[in-house]
Amino acid sequence: MDEKLQDIYDEVLERNPDEDVFHQAVSEVLGSLGPVVAKHPQYTDAAIIRRMCEPERQVIFRVPWIDDDGRVQVNRGFRVGFNSALGPYKGGLRFHPSVYLGTVKFLGFEQIFKNSLTGLPIGGGKGGSDFDPKGRSDAEVMRFCQAFMTELYRHIGEHTDVPAGDIGVGQREIGYLFGQYKKITNRFEAGTLTGKGLSWGGSRVRTEATGYGLAFFAQRVLEASNEGLDGKRVVVSGSGNVAIHAIEKVHQLGGTVVGCSDSGGYVVDEAGIDLELLKQVKLVDRGRMSDYADQRGSKVHHSDQGSVWEVACDIALPCATQNEVDADEAKALIDNGCQLVAEGANMPLTPAAVDAFAEAKVAYAPGKAANAGGVATSALEMQQNASRDTWTFEHTEQRLEEIMGNIHDRCLETAEEYGSPGDYVAGANIAGFIQVADAMLAQGVI
Ligand code: GLU
Repeated sequence: MDEKLQDIYDEVLERNPDEDVFHQAVSEVLGSLGPVVAKHPQYTDAAIIRRMCEPERQVIFRVPWIDDDGRVQVNRGFRVGFNSALGPYKGGLRFHPSVYLGTVKFLGFEQIFKNSLTGLPIGGGKGGSDFDPKGRSDAEVMRFCQAFMTELYRHIGEHTDVPAGDIGVGQREIGYLFGQYKKITNRFEAGTLTGKGLSWGGSRVRTEATGYGLAFFAQRVLEASNEGLDGKRVVVSGSGNVAIHAIEKVHQLGGTVVGCSDSGGYVVDEAGIDLELLKQVKLVDRGRMSDYADQRGSKVHHSDQGSVWEVACDIALPCATQNEVDADEAKALIDNGCQLVAEGANMPLTPAAVDAFAEAKVAYAPGKAANAGGVATSALEMQQNASRDTWTFEHTEQRLEEIMGNIHDRCLETAEEYGSPGDYVAGANIAGFIQVADAMLAQGVI
């Protein structure tokens, strides 16, 4: 790493102790910025990178709520507004027991560059809680969401900070959050939250957007070497909203997804994942991949040992969570002939896995480019809310496809300009960074 960047990174380590995933996200971005600071000293002179590594604001709050047995439960809530140079803070809420300040800062930091890449006017932020929705009744989830919003409402707003979903937060949770926001503020301010239901301000394609966008991006990467998803064997990790819609679009584009997973194991389905059954099991019944295997019958193999990355494939789409692919799993994928890894989750590859794919010359599309379709479509939802309009599915999907194509091309052009042709990581980090940095320079020392 360049000396100036190393100093900034050392300061990040010192000022943010015990936040490993945040350190990892910062290190990955700073690792790409060497040629940028060499060419544009104004960014380091004005402490732009140091400022970017420090959130504009961070809120941590108590979330007390009552469970179905009448007991008081206490969780911790977070919202980090990382950067508002390009627009209101924008980014999801994650409800998962592993969430702590470091998780929210890593995700918020990623979101700055991802949102910049979309070309739409959104800053970067993120939030969440260590609440575990798994095994909780609808009524418990509702009471938790209401308690969470009872504090969060004063920090958000359509021009300030616009939360959405992430792991553990889907349309059900957004509904409860929006209802409470509306009740407290006495305003139907649709543009304050995205991922809403269609009849109350939601956008068509928002549910599908991250997964569809990922498949569009993978398609563009393959097209750059005169190939496509048609006929490809694909493995996806996860089986949530991102995974399901990535599978759907890969199938529409002619590929076959032969494996996917959840925290209890993975399935291999050589005939191609049965999407209707997967949607029923995961979205309606909130069941497990083992239930999918039971209902699909003898054609399908379910394993609760090892990982889905042992399944041979041409294309790997990690869509579960951070650091889910380590060096050994990368090696298994490489040995089995994988030619492209595109990230649907945020930071699913460990640094050692990233290095392994680079060394093996496997194409690699980082999440901040490849999974930007979700937040991009959130920005389209904000546009529809601001104009009190609704768009058709076709129009919205076409916008999404264009945005993913633009991100792809910008990554390649920027990588070329800064001396790393074909490197999507360098392209995404540098292109995302420069746009935010220039806006910060223009706005003074704030
Ligand atoms: N959580 C998603 C992401 O990681 C989407 C955020 C949003 O729509 O604001 O980008």
